[in-house]
Amino acid sequence: MKYNRCFNFSAGPAMMPEPVLEEIRDEMMNYRGSGMCVMEMSHRSAVYQQIIDDAEKDLRDLMGIPDNYKVLFIQGGATLQFSMIPMNLMKNKKAVYIETGAWSSKAIKEAKKVGEVIVAASSKDKNYTYIPDCSNLDIPEDADYVYICENETIHGSTWSKLPNTKGHILVSDQSSMFLSKPCNVSDYGVIYGGVQKNIGPAGMAIVIIREDLIRDDLTDLPIYLQFKTHADNGSMYNTPNTWAIYCCGKVFKYLKSIGGLEAMAAINADKAKVFYDFLDSSKMFKGTVEKKDRSLMNIPFVTGSAELDAEVVKATKAAGYDNLKGHKSVGGLRASIYNAMPKEGVEALVKFLKEFEAKH
Ligand SMILES: *Cc1c(COP(=O)(O)O)cnc(C)c1O
Repeated sequence: MKYNRCFNFSAGPAMMPEPVLEEIRDEMMNYRGSGMCVMEMSHRSAVYQQIIDDAEKDLRDLMGIPDNYKVLFIQGGATLQFSMIPMNLMKNKKAVYIETGAWSSKAIKEAKKVGEVIVAASSKDKNYTYIPDCSNLDIPEDADYVYICENETIHGSTWSKLPNTKGHILVSDQSSMFLSKPCNVSDYGVIYGGVQKNIGPAGMAIVIIREDLIRDDLTDLPIYLQFKTHADNGSMYNTPNTWAIYCCGKVFKYLKSIGGLEAMAAINADKAKVFYDFLDSSKMFKGTVEKKDRSLMNIPFVTGSAELDAEVVKATKAAGYDNLKGHKSVGGLRASIYNAMPKEGVEALVKFLKEFEAKH
């Protein structure tokens, strides 16, 4: 690989497209004649305003975000949204959550601090290896919203069909699948995600929220925690994460240049197929998630032996395939193959694992 980089299978922060990194490098010392680096720039300057405006516009183009949705850039990562969402959306102090893995469980824990949480479906019984049937859930009439984590980064499952919310607002954590495929934004009330998995550098979440869900009666809530604060001030009530917004903006432009989310989805499906075909034919390595619910982004797999798993992690790292250790809560191995992982990276890893298997 160019620059002697490794194939990085990290779950996040994760790989970024190389052409984007090169552009950032080229603009590092003097951004387009401004005489300064974007990191050194006032967020109130005209040159920075253009950067954030472009970033929002390109994201709107990519996802086809309707005009009645706001795009907010908020610090605190996806984790702060576990709290901000119930604080801002629980009018009746009651919401329905679907528990499909570590990240939805964390969201549930935070929401319980704000109001009543009804876990209407869960896959905990089988260690979160599938997405439960959510076509006919018991949803109280006065529930404020239905919450899902659309791609469980640690457990490696994804929703192929959204839940039937029976007319309630759908809130989705898309952190580890953001921009991996086309998304019909109007199916949701809120879409959000930390950007460090599939877009850019850590330290920020993007929140796409339907305008009528932004309340102005929450004046007792700390100012930074109100969606209204961010919406009314173009995500610049205070100093935003200027660097992350700049880098994400570059990734949006890059995705547009390769054909947008349709093209990205085709590449991702193709890439994931290479890996899953390997797992399904291997005698040593096995996928852990039910086939119909397999994530195209995060692929957990096991050998069945913790010692052998550790050996694989060591051997792959030495060969230039980094970060294949599974999350500490589930063990085993995990290959995260986000947008920026090239197909050659997946093919090379599969070849290496096949050879490893043959030798053992
Ligand atoms: C990583 C992740 C989070 C937490 O993101 P932070 O930005 O670290 O707060 C939340 N949800 C999902 C699905 C994730 O993958």
